[in-house]
Order: sequence, then structure tokens, then C-alpha cells
Amino acid sequence: MSRYVPDLDKGKGLYFLFIKAEARTPGGLVARPVLTGYYKSDKFKNRPYDPYLVYTSPDEAVLCADSFQSMYTQMLCGLLMREEVLRMGAVFASGLLRAIRFLQLNWKQLSEDIKTGVLNPKITDPSIRTRMEEILRPNRELADFITEECEGENWERIITRIWPNTKYLDVIVTGAMAQYIPTLDYYSGGLPLACTMYASSECYFGLNLKPMCTPNEVSYTIMPNMGYFEFIPHDPINRVNLSRDSPPRLVDLADVEVGKEYEIVVTTYAGLCRYRVGDILKVSSFYNNAPQFKFIRRKNVLLSIDADKTDESELQKGIDNASELLLEFDTSVVEYTSYADTKNIPGHYVIYWELLVKDQAKSPSDEVLNKCCLAIEDSLNTVYRQCRVTDNSIGPLEIRVVKNGTFEELMDYAISRGASINQYKVPRCVSFAPIMELLDSRLVSVHFSPAAPHWTPQEV
Ligand code: AMP
Repeated sequence: MSRYVPDLDKGKGLYFLFIKAEARTPGGLVARPVLTGYYKSDKFKNRPYDPYLVYTSPDEAVLCADSFQSMYTQMLCGLLMREEVLRMGAVFASGLLRAIRFLQLNWKQLSEDIKTGVLNPKITDPSIRTRMEEILRPNRELADFITEECEGENWERIITRIWPNTKYLDVIVTGAMAQYIPTLDYYSGGLPLACTMYASSECYFGLNLKPMCTPNEVSYTIMPNMGYFEFIPHDPINRVNLSRDSPPRLVDLADVEVGKEYEIVVTTYAGLCRYRVGDILKVSSFYNNAPQFKFIRRKNVLLSIDADKTDESELQKGIDNASELLLEFDTSVVEYTSYADTKNIPGHYVIYWELLVKDQAKSPSDEVLNKCCLAIEDSLNTVYRQCRVTDNSIGPLEIRVVKNGTFEELMDYAISRGASINQYKVPRCVSFAPIMELLDSRLVSVHFSPAAPHWTPQEV
């Protein structure tokens, strides 16, 4: 980054970094996301001083598993050092927006702490408290400034108002995270968005060698030393493998062709052998002899708010389980579709339902439909439920019941735009504005999950 942005060694980075609870596999191995492993390792804890990697967040806050205490302390330190902050970031765009939402909800208490120099008693982690004794001093002027900026309704450009020296935001906004670009622009007044890396818990893939390019120009150069990379040719129109062989024919990293799409397959030092990560990439160019890829999408993912990735079969299972609650009311789900609603932070899943109520006198109550929301959530995968329960990075699932005949109207609309009647399939996820308007104009009732779904740290 220092090649593209001058003087990054003259200040600090406000990065919102978190660890997640660990789980155990049935065989007794610890399972955790890659960053949790990294932050807990000596490599992170005992890292040598590097002027380019000075963070405002104390390690004690990053390493605290309680997400409220961790976020609170990281935000407090970011505010205390606001003039030193030269860049701000989180891994994914959703994480940075969650931090802004946190500030909206907690600025009063944060500025109280700054005014008095006394840490909020809700922060009980002893190592954080000890560390904050060194950092927190009463500063009335700063507390007044924060109150002035946060108490109004206007949060436009809040990032540059509070952290005026921020040069760019360091967050991933490619793939599913592209949905957050307009909101980030609103809060930052259009600061550059740097997408620096493409990585996963299974394997590190590559870097963006032009990190200050616009999000739609981002390409990642795969680093051939990170694992052994192979590719399954992919048909972008029909969204299937192009290889008819079983197992599919694999293309080596050196042999991929510009303009073509591939599914990435990795063999890693940790022991994964020809593992299909599930990402579809398109070759955009070469850097010397190394191909560069645009991230196209995650295979089969319908819905994603944060680290969660829900595919069609998982959603279907959720709908099936929730529908069982309707049986005793002689009611069934005729059609459904879904939408990742990120207008508010945290975002949440919305499921549109058209119901067939056979006996109106027996129709399911609000309470039953609220329970259906929870039944869907309880059927979704462990990452979704962990985001809901421990991270609060996803809000309660919502069911919007629409009038009878709405999905037929949806089909009429698709056909009017050229879809084939024979081959029309109800889209299981929607985001196109006219379709959303149609669905929302036919609402009968709206329901939310009344509680958090079930999740335990033992789950893998
Ligand atoms: P995880 O397994 O939770 O570490 O998530 C890894 C997945 O997140 C990858 O396989 C991608 O689907 C997605 N991902 C990671 N980095 C990027 C990126 N730079 N752009 C788009 N998606 C990404």
C-alpha cells in the first residue's frame, strides 16, 4: 500500500478485527476461521514493530471473544486516536458498516467514557481494563466533539468528519460485498475503497496488485506458492462445468485463458486435496506469467450478509421445516423467494411467502408465522447461526407474506421481459428493483424471528 499511498507510516490504521468462538470436530480437532487462528498465534501477538502496521486497536481488544466488549474498545480507541487514523478497515465491507452502526447506537456512552476518563463498567474483560488504564484519559473537548457529530440525524460522511485524515477504506467489496458500496460511499464521502486480498480459511489465494483501482476493476493475482491451483472450466451462461469428464478435466494455473471463467480447485499444504472452494473466477489478464482473476461469484450462494453463505438447498430445507408448522392450520407455502436486505445494519434475510390457506377461519396467527421465521433460521448452517447468536452481524429473519397471485404476476413480468414460459423458474433470490417493488406492493403481513436461533460452540 505504501507504493500507492504516501506517508502511511506517519499514523495508524483503525481496523475492526475480531476472533470467533472455536469449535471442535467430532475427532477432537480445533476448528476455527483462518483469522481467529492468526490473531491467536504468536506471529500476531509477538509481531515485530512495523511503522506501516500500527493499529489503534489494542491486541487485548482484538483477542476478546465477547464481540460487544471487543467492538466497544476498538471504537473507543479509534475515537481517542482519531487524528492519527490514516486508514480504516475491516475484512469485509459488512464488518466496517457494523462498526458504524455500533457507533450510532453507543456514541453517548463512548463520549461519556472520554469525558470522564472512566471505562464503561460493561467492559469486564480484565486484560482490556488494564490496557485501557494506560490509554484512556479524560478529554472533555473530544467528548463534546463526538457528541456534536453524532447527536444529529445526519450521518453522511461521518467517517471523514470524525477521522479527517483517513485516506482510504481497506475492505473487501468484491463478490457478495459489492452490495455495500453505496452505503460505504455515503458514510465516507466516496473515499477510495482498497480491496487488497482474496483469501479463504482453506487457502490464501492472491493479492490485488493495483489496490487503489475502482471496485469493478479489481483483479487478484494468484500467488502460485500458496498452494497448488487448478481450474475447472465453467460455462457462464448455463452456470455449469464445461468438462464432461468425471472427475472433471482440470486446467493448470499456467494454462488458463483470458476471458474464460473457471471454478478454482486447491491442493493445500494443510492437506486438502483437489478441494473445490466454490468460487467462480474469470481470467482478466496476466502479470508476467501469473494469471489475474476477477472474482465472479460464489457457486450456488443465494444469500449472504456477512460471513454467511446460504445456498438454494439450505434455504429450501428451511422453508420445508417452517412449512411443517403450518400443517395444523391447513396452510401451505405455494411459492417463495428471498432477498438479502442490507438497508439497515446489521442486514437480514427476507423471505417472501405466498400462502394457500384452505380454511380462512383457521389461518395461522402472527405468533405462528413468527415461529416460522425462527424455524427457517434454525435450519440454516452453523456460520449463519453463529453470526446471529454471537456476532450479531445478521438481524432477525423476516417473512413477508404476499397476496395470492403475486408470484403469477412475477412470472408475467418476467415473460414480458423475454423469459420463456416453458422454462420460467421462480427466482429463489431477488434484488432487481422493479421486482422488489412488485412484491412489496402486495404485502399482507410482516413477521420477524422472535428469538435467536440455536447455536453452540461445539458445532462444526
Ligand atoms: P471463509 O471460508 O469464511 O474464509 O471465506 C472465504 C470465501 O470468502 C472465499 O472462498 C470467497 O468466496 C469469499 N472471499 C474472500 N475474499 C474475497 C474477495 N476479495 N472478494 C470476494 N469474495 C471473497
